[in-house]
Amino acid sequence: MIDFHAHIDLYPEPNKVVKEIERRKMYVLSVTTTPSAWTGTYSISKRYPRIKTALGLHPQLAHERIPELPLFDTFINETDYVGEVGLDGSPEFSKHKKSQLAVLKHILKSCSNSGGKIISLHSRRAASDVIDILEEHPDAGIPVFHWFTGGKGELKRAIQKNAWFSIGPAMLKSKRSIEMVQCIPEDRILTESDGPFAKVSGKPLMPWDVESAVIGLSRIWNMTPSNTQEILYSNFRTLIESKS
Ligand SMILES: [Zn+2]
Repeated sequence: MIDFHAHIDLYPEPNKVVKEIERRKMYVLSVTTTPSAWTGTYSISKRYPRIKTALGLHPQLAHERIPELPLFDTFINETDYVGEVGLDGSPEFSKHKKSQLAVLKHILKSCSNSGGKIISLHSRRAASDVIDILEEHPDAGIPVFHWFTGGKGELKRAIQKNAWFSIGPAMLKSKRSIEMVQCIPEDRILTESDGPFAKVSGKPLMPWDVESAVIGLSRIWNMTPSNTQEILYSNFRTLIESKS
């Protein structure tokens, strides 16, 4: 199974989570929320080749962590993966839009200078703005929208920009999201947990809970879970090989 967006460092016992990921032979993208968390988070899973760590600066922290941008540039050459980055236009964070824009632009420029990255993107209530900024930075790499909640027009634009999408169990609970997923080409989809932030029935999701997203996708695609898994693995390989 593939979890292309998990906050491993934010679980109460990250080492146990990593061991279970290894036992299940899962592929995981371990995203970070601040450049200062990079070294510690990378060290949790560096012995496990199936877990990759992404360098991030979460848009909800952008206004507080602008001083960490030089640190972002220090670490950018150590990984092919960037995330969690993006914009958050929800009411409690929209007042920091200026900082968020400055941070995302800096990060995408840094990605371009470093040869392009695979980028796990947050775009809550800000999908159009995120797509606009991606357009300004065509060499930044391959965008993977995590938990995309934009409108159909925004989704179409993102698909035209060759974006990918990581889809989690929480996203497959609403009728609206399921309709969105139906509009995404099968070969641009991966699974994610977004645990421990994302919860189902009040319980933080674990990386292996992506299994229920696989089942959800198999219903949407009208095929068996094992055929769905095969498509997801093939997508994953295509995405990863684009960087090697
Ligand atoms: Zn996240």
